[in-house]
Amino acid sequence: MSSPDRAYWKPAEETLPRPALEALQLDRLRQTLARVWEKVPFYRHKLDEAKVSPDAVRGLADLRRLPFTTGADLRETYPAGLLAVPPDEALRLHTSSGTTGKPKAIFFSRQDVDNSAELCARSFVATGMGRQDVFQNMMTYGLFTGALVTHYAAEKIGCLVIPAGPGNSDRQLLLMRDFRTTAIHITPSFALYFADFLEKHGVDPRQELALQRAFVGAEPYTEATRRKIEAGLGVRAFNSYGLSEMNGPGVAFECQEQQGMHLWEDHFLMEIIDPGSGEPLPLGARGELVLTTLVREAMPILRYRTRDITSIMDAPCACGRTHRRIQRITGRADDMLIVRGVNFYPQQVERILMAIEGVGRNYVICLEGLDEMTVKVELSEAGMSDRPEPMYALQDEIVSGLRAEILTKPKVELVPPGALPVSEGKARRVIDNRKL
Ligand code: ADP
Ligand code: ZN
Repeated sequence: MSSPDRAYWKPAEETLPRPALEALQLDRLRQTLARVWEKVPFYRHKLDEAKVSPDAVRGLADLRRLPFTTGADLRETYPAGLLAVPPDEALRLHTSSGTTGKPKAIFFSRQDVDNSAELCARSFVATGMGRQDVFQNMMTYGLFTGALVTHYAAEKIGCLVIPAGPGNSDRQLLLMRDFRTTAIHITPSFALYFADFLEKHGVDPRQELALQRAFVGAEPYTEATRRKIEAGLGVRAFNSYGLSEMNGPGVAFECQEQQGMHLWEDHFLMEIIDPGSGEPLPLGARGELVLTTLVREAMPILRYRTRDITSIMDAPCACGRTHRRIQRITGRADDMLIVRGVNFYPQQVERILMAIEGVGRNYVICLEGLDEMTVKVELSEAGMSDRPEPMYALQDEIVSGLRAEILTKPKVELVPPGALPVSEGKARRVIDNRKL
């Protein structure tokens, strides 16, 4: 008997041998090019400028001859300059959450809506989720793709879906208890906050709740943060990557092996480039992820500069899926901070902090004056009570850990658990008020 969840483990698609997968990619790339050439003047013009006609693309290696699309291009063509279907065939509008500027409008046709849910369902099933699961969606519903795409994906699988949205921890807990929630979708910052909430209320999730899995994404986080989330919520936390420009969630996802995220290569072509020069980097090198949509109807996008920093893992995965994996995103090219002449990413700070005992679940990097950096760090509940006075020791440990990692010495301020603000959407890790 076939159950709905089995329908989303499609070995034929997910385990295609490489040559067949690449043939499919080439075929779909050529269709995408023909489509944008015909329907999107913006791309016709860009392709003319780059002197590439759709038929000139004969192999995947020709991809590098195609023009990039940037976030700025999306904003300049706002609202509908990249639409490749007649307006009445557009079925849904999403925008990127606008973390880094004015939102970008993304259109979905009926087929795109189906595909986005399908890819996300495929991702969920890869983590072992099935129709028996109860899925509590703790992401923001609205223009943001994060909640809607996963919502429909879990419904496709046949789960009971609880559209809780973020915030209101009391109500989240009530729902989890009463409906025996097994899987949640949540940002890393809210997951840490919620873990704190459970601890404070003396709730042992392993005893009192039925949680098994958390799908954690929408913002960068480290392995150490994953472990904290797993410990605090009593779950396995799966890394979930996506962006509105491509599909929303379900672009790349961890399988049960939890070693990197399979990027669904039958829907996207991926490249890694040097974010400075735009040149492709050798396989395995870390750089900016560039994605080309292969099956998008309403708004195909060529060589999109995601600004996300990662690398491709070429080795086969033990799960049998042939779609290659990407490493955990270590940050965005635009997130790089320069303080007193040294460059670093906020995730480097997080990696050090989260590995130190006594450190709690939230932190913020404050930049002020000419180039003064203060890292405000919440203590854990245990950190508060175990260390009444040797705070200086903890502070020193943090300062020297950070100094070794980012090569500059910040001030460190320890604050009680829960003292730092938590945002309902994406976490704000850096407050830059410098007068440079
Ligand atoms: P915005 O660019 O406004 O934040 P989106 O809501 O589409 O718009 O967010 C997509 C971005 O979120 C990605 O480009 C990436 O920077 C970040 N992101 C999403 N999932 C992850 C993840 N698992 N790890 C790191 N970053 C992620
Ligand atoms: Zn795998």
